[in-house]
Amino acid sequence: MSRTMRAVVLSGPGRCAVQEVPAPTAVPGEVVVDVERVGVCGTDVELFTGELSYLETGHSSYPLRPGHEWCGRVTAVGGGVDPAWLGRRVTGDTMLGDRVCRRCRRGQQHVCEDRQEVGIRGDRPGALAEQLAVPVQSLHELPDSVDPVLGALVEPGGNAWRAAQAAAVASGDRALVIGPGTIGLLTAMFLRARGAEVHLLGVTAPSLDFARGLGFADAWTRDTLPDLPVDAVVDASTDPGSPALALDLVEPAGRVVCIGIAGTPSTIDTRTLLLKDVTAVGVLSASPGLAPTIEAYRTGAVDPRPLVAATVGLAEVGAVLAGGRPRGSGAGPKVHVDPRLGA
Ligand SMILES: [Zn+2]
Repeated sequence: MSRTMRAVVLSGPGRCAVQEVPAPTAVPGEVVVDVERVGVCGTDVELFTGELSYLETGHSSYPLRPGHEWCGRVTAVGGGVDPAWLGRRVTGDTMLGDRVCRRCRRGQQHVCEDRQEVGIRGDRPGALAEQLAVPVQSLHELPDSVDPVLGALVEPGGNAWRAAQAAAVASGDRALVIGPGTIGLLTAMFLRARGAEVHLLGVTAPSLDFARGLGFADAWTRDTLPDLPVDAVVDASTDPGSPALALDLVEPAGRVVCIGIAGTPSTIDTRTLLLKDVTAVGVLSASPGLAPTIEAYRTGAVDPRPLVAATVGLAEVGAVLAGGRPRGSGAGPKVHVDPRLGA
């Protein structure tokens, strides 16, 4: 009889349950990881509600098993995998390219047309489970000082690191981040680590208070935002009007970085882009940012652990995806899951 494990299964829009499913086995080129910590993110919510565009394009379909912000320990290796991986603490790239196409061969597997995304796309089961199987090439080893909380924040951190990198700020430059959610706050932390004067623009008082508690005193609403020159604006919001606002607010010769995504198209006037000599950058995925994020967490240059409001077991994931806040939650935007809790 084959072993089973507990996993979160989405069987349709609004339908989430913990099920006993066959435990993964390590096929050639892959490893099996005992999952220690998993973050729940906006993409998981869209998979739950049915709003994610991949469900429309056929890149994703129910039933599916979510979870892509994870860390754990390697407990089995398949054929062709160095046994030295056994026992190592790891996280992994969400994006799994086919490794043969032109983009993959050029090192851009995160935009491979035929890619799988762990827990999101291409029928690759995710990490909201006791165990996870992934290709060894996708792994990043975690140093001891990167604990499970930090380990599960590497994936969102990698996205934010790339946004901060694209903002290209130097010490003393001023940056504005629109949207003080997990990605916005992480981006603000990486921008601050680069020496920028970081401002945040948000909507609700609690989210701005939380940002101030992280040391971002310059947390504003549209009504209070001071009229200051801003060298880079990062849009980490889901408001369709934010990219145009970012373009309006940025200094000439500055940069606009788009990492938030709205449910409807965001339009900008490219005449403004040109006349202001602005560089605009889009960021999809953490892939090239994973290694530098691990390094920033290892050295303590960035410590995002205060973003985690609560850590729950698999049984509570459905309620979290439906918008509930776990009992006793802190004020942070992120909920973590420890699959070993409540087993
Ligand atoms: Zn490819």
